[in-house]
Amino acid sequence: MSSDRITIFDTTLRDGEQAPGASMDLEQKLRVARVLQELAVDVIEAGFAAASPGDAEAVAAIAREIDGPVICSLARAERADIDLALQALASAHHPRIHIFLGTSPTHREYKLRLTKEEIVARATEAVRYARARCEQVEFSPEDASRTEPDFLVEVVQRVVEAGATTVNIPDTVGYALPQQFGALIALLREKVRADVTLSVHCHNDLGLAVANTLAGIEAGARQVECTVNGIGERAGNCSLEEVVMALRTRADYFGVRTGVRTPKLCAASRAVSEATGFVVQRNKAVVGENAFAHEAGIHQHGVMTHALTYEIMRPEDVGFTSTRLVLGKHSGRHLLAHRLEQLGYQLDAAQMLRVFDQFKRVADHRKEIVDADLHRIMREARPG
Ligand code: MN
Repeated sequence: MSSDRITIFDTTLRDGEQAPGASMDLEQKLRVARVLQELAVDVIEAGFAAASPGDAEAVAAIAREIDGPVICSLARAERADIDLALQALASAHHPRIHIFLGTSPTHREYKLRLTKEEIVARATEAVRYARARCEQVEFSPEDASRTEPDFLVEVVQRVVEAGATTVNIPDTVGYALPQQFGALIALLREKVRADVTLSVHCHNDLGLAVANTLAGIEAGARQVECTVNGIGERAGNCSLEEVVMALRTRADYFGVRTGVRTPKLCAASRAVSEATGFVVQRNKAVVGENAFAHEAGIHQHGVMTHALTYEIMRPEDVGFTSTRLVLGKHSGRHLLAHRLEQLGYQLDAAQMLRVFDQFKRVADHRKEIVDADLHRIMREARPG
């Protein structure tokens, strides 16, 4: 894989599904998996096989049905977990085992009660065991961003020696800042064998998941872990649609590309929203209802004349049919005239002036003016 190609690792079905209230049943998970296949993500993390029989069943069903992307299951650094993941992935064409183990002082002392030496031993043992049974093994030092950088480098080097093919650096708690996280990835890129893919997994507790992810890419990470609509634990994960469109829109800056079919982004967003019951906020970047909507008159006139005046992406490129010009109290005469013409009204300048006046009076009390309102305004404006 060339160095300008970013691997999109989607974890909507694993980390996304761990979001409180986002649980999906088997049929819903399969529907989302099909959407991810359509979207052409590179890796689907289908679940955490050891978490529950339902999770194992979902991973197995997705492994059976979905062809194309790598299918991945999460596992703790324990043989029993790895065995369950391998079983669930048995029919996948391209399986991957994703092993995680906490490495930060907090995780070592309070959660795992293990010394640094014991952490390294457990991680390398698990990676070696998995790699003997699966060609692709990814390792995540959980809470990496709060791990001592020296120790993190040591863990990563050792799991690479043990056979890890991808090393993922999670900002598990959303604590990282872009420059700092970028520097950490740059350090690892320098210390880790070049044929090993570095990955980033960022959480959005401070609203920085996408920014941290982009900083990681700039520093040499070539895999991104993300979820559709940014769903995930707590405040969620790096949003797939945002990071993909940032890389595409600013390819001039990043010089990298993904394999995602971006015109499918809106459909994917809607499918995940339906499956999880999580409503997408109206002003959500890229896929929100307002992402390509304009109400201010100056903006509307600009967009009608030349879309790039106020839009950096084309709506078609993410799956919207067109820019949406909303008629409201901030709209100008150009859009009103345009919309009335579309509705079949022919007005001279004097009539237009009167109708525009009436339009502004009505719009002052309303959030949006729809076609029915325009017909009424026209009926009332008609002389006699
Ligand atoms: Mn996570």
